Amino acid sequence: MSPIPGSGLAKGLAVTLRTMTKKTVTAQYPDVQPELPPRSRGVIGLFEENCTVCMLCARECPDWCIYIDSHKETVPAAVPGGRERSRNVLDRFAIDFSLCMYCGICIEVCPFDALFWSPEFEYAETDIRDLTHERDKLREWMWTVPAPPALDPGAEEPKEMGAARKTAEKLAAAEADASTQPDAATPQPGAATQPDASTPQPGAATQPDASTQPGAGGVPPAGGERPADDSGPATGQGGPA
Ligand code: SF4
Ligand code: SF4
Repeated sequence: MSPIPGSGLAKGLAVTLRTMTKKTVTAQYPDVQPELPPRSRGVIGLFEENCTVCMLCARECPDWCIYIDSHKETVPAAVPGGRERSRNVLDRFAIDFSLCMYCGICIEVCPFDALFWSPEFEYAETDIRDLTHERDKLREWMWTVPAPPALDPGAEEPKEMGAARKTAEKLAAAEADASTQPDAATPQPGAATQPDASTPQPGAATQPDASTQPGAGGVPPAGGERPADDSGPATGQGGPA
């Protein structure tokens, strides 16, 4: 049976009309940024201050694409008589994203919360060597890591939050104490009227120098005579008998 002339055109138009009424699924990237799930695995950020160079992440990475170099430093004893300690200092931390398979094992095993997922994904390169991100670049990714989701209502407070809150409360209490204490630099009532030790007092300039007083080891009066107005002790060297 021969097809009806124009039936193909009618079918095609029907498909077009059906598609036109459907919701579009095409993402207009890069003109429109995609709405990614909050825990998307885009790139790994390094929070260097938390890294103790324990090497766990490098050992557990199935692709061996984490490169860490470090050296040991001796830290002097904190108290006299204490022991010196040694600590690892990070020299290099790099991840080769041309090898990484985004399994997330390094982030899971890090015991010190130094590695995080960032949803950033726009770091394609034309040279594969540029896909090895050194620690400065890994740190920059840290600032794109989203904040963790809020805790469930009634959830136990995380230990870190509790410790930070207690420290902040102690500091606030210490500051409050300090603000209620009289300031040593603030003149107290009556303090301004006290004579300054460095200010010459009336009559002070006319007092004889202590070094010339008899009995003070200074020059004795001529003839060894005791001055008539001398009421000081007469036991000093060179004083009258
Ligand atoms: S995500 Fe997996 S493959 Fe990538 S660096 Fe971490 S452990 Fe290695
Ligand atoms: S596991 Fe964490 S603390 Fe240990 S070396 Fe890796 S990033 Fe640093």
